Amino acid sequence: MNRDTLIRKLQNNKSLQWDIIVIGGGATGLGVAVDAVTRGFKTLLLEQADFTKGTSSRSTKLVHGGVRYLAQGDILLVTEALHERGLMLKNAPHLTVNQEFVIPVYTLWDVILYTIGLKFYDLLAGKLSMGKSYFIKKAETANRLPLLKSDGLKGGIVYHDGQFDDSRMGITLAKSCVENGGTVLNYFRVNSLLKGENSKVTGVLARDMESGTEYQIHGKLVINASGIFADEIHRMDEPSSRPTIRPSQGVHVVLDDSFLQSKSAIMIPKTDDGRVLFAIPWYGKVVVGTTDTPLETITLEPKALDEEVDFILATAGKYLTRPPGKEDILCIFAGLRPLAANHDNSQTTKEVSRRHKITLFPSGLLSIIGGKWTSYRRMAEETIDKAIKAGILENKKCVTRTLSFYNNNNAVLKSERLKIYGSKAAEIEKLIDDKPFLGQLIDKRLPYTRAEIVWICRNEMPRTLEDILARRTRSLFLNTRASVAASVEVADLMAEELGFDKTWKEEQIKEYNKLTSNYL
Ligand SMILES: Cc1cc2nc3c(=O)[nH]c(=O)nc-3n(C[C@H](O)[C@H](O)[C@H](O)COP(=O)(O)OP(=O)(O)OC[C@H]3O[C@@H](n4cnc5c(N)ncnc54)[C@H](O)[C@@H]3O)c2cc1C
Repeated sequence: MNRDTLIRKLQNNKSLQWDIIVIGGGATGLGVAVDAVTRGFKTLLLEQADFTKGTSSRSTKLVHGGVRYLAQGDILLVTEALHERGLMLKNAPHLTVNQEFVIPVYTLWDVILYTIGLKFYDLLAGKLSMGKSYFIKKAETANRLPLLKSDGLKGGIVYHDGQFDDSRMGITLAKSCVENGGTVLNYFRVNSLLKGENSKVTGVLARDMESGTEYQIHGKLVINASGIFADEIHRMDEPSSRPTIRPSQGVHVVLDDSFLQSKSAIMIPKTDDGRVLFAIPWYGKVVVGTTDTPLETITLEPKALDEEVDFILATAGKYLTRPPGKEDILCIFAGLRPLAANHDNSQTTKEVSRRHKITLFPSGLLSIIGGKWTSYRRMAEETIDKAIKAGILENKKCVTRTLSFYNNNNAVLKSERLKIYGSKAAEIEKLIDDKPFLGQLIDKRLPYTRAEIVWICRNEMPRTLEDILARRTRSLFLNTRASVAASVEVADLMAEELGFDKTWKEEQIKEYNKLTSNYL
């Protein structure tokens, strides 16, 4: 996956007509690109920033049906997502884990309600169940969650869901697309749509954000998978188009494991203001969230509101024996949900369904909005099927149900942590064997070695320091301050591998420092 080589494919084939041009390199666009290319379509994906820079690196990291959506009665959504959860765990076992959750219960009514609810959740998962739910007594709850306050506790309901690394899943999809013959380009922004006879969309005008070069690119089908930016693309198609996205911000804080000290996650099904709060172990830290705040401003770099952080800390403090304070926060991250909603404002964003919407516009532009990370594969399948049914593409079968991604769970690794690189982990171990100094950590508070940075530069198309620290590794999210400390060393390694000079390094370090103020 080399950006220059992929761009040359565009330059050398100016008259080439792609079957499919996908706008947006988040979960939705990457899923669509993998579906398309593995069916045998000539596929190009353009992402204006880095892959998963938007919402898709800022999720709660759950591969789940959504217990909350069950409570809202959205059974179809939950059933579909539970099926997809099972497929993702099978196809990307190196990036997903079976996570145990405990719901603390304080009244007999809650014991009955959540026991029945979660039995139903198990039932909906069918053959792809990840383990049965069951009630545990107070003593056992305290055993599994030693730092949970026990006043008034009746016990806990245990259930299972999946957990994953969202941006590494995204980069894995990008690599899979390229390996199957597709082209994916980061830092390539679509600025307008090309139109032909009868105002039909025939392609896109896109700019390489690094060189400034513009490209007219032609395709049979243009798919808008630009998440919260979907309405911008709709307006390129039809300036008077009505808004279809209702953005809602969700914030998480990351804390040290000493606040949870458990392999089990906590799920609080109903906070004081009717939201759900999770505290989930992730790469040796605890991710706590989330919020649901309707916002009007759309940006690639959303910022948590003070009241959102206060709410998370206060709610966590009600349940944990050691209440976390602002000084304990390792990272705060915010993401915008691209909710597909009517604009009559009759529902709060909490109530808006997480279902996706696929729309074929009269111009031939196909748009996919909303949905969940968990359902990315099914959303992609439905999107391409829709184009086939409309006669835009020839009929070719979807193969992604059994498409597995670089997994090699049987490999014996010296470091279990390298499992996240699947079958490629051995290449990183070899780098360390050849040059032992590459085995050193980039910062003692982070789990990543220099060898991973070198390997990522050679294989995963990072262009900026942020690409490596935020999404190829999760340094920014796990410990923002430690990632700043590591930035000089990582910039050195990157510059050496990718041929960047001293000025590039200095600018990158400055830019990265500026960015991190959003996360602290
Ligand atoms: C707080 C929060 C928690 C969540 N937790 C979960 C969870 O635990 N599990 C789950 O299943 N789902 C979860 N979700 C939902 C899930 O994260 C989203 O549904 C999903 O990531 C959306 O992906 P997307 O590709 O549609 O959007 P994005 O990831 O935002 O991708 C769209 C991309 O399009 C690009 N783009 C926009 N305009 C252009 C242009 N003109 N040219 C080129 N590129 C362009 C953007 O740069 C962006 O990268 C959560 C969402 C939030 C906000």
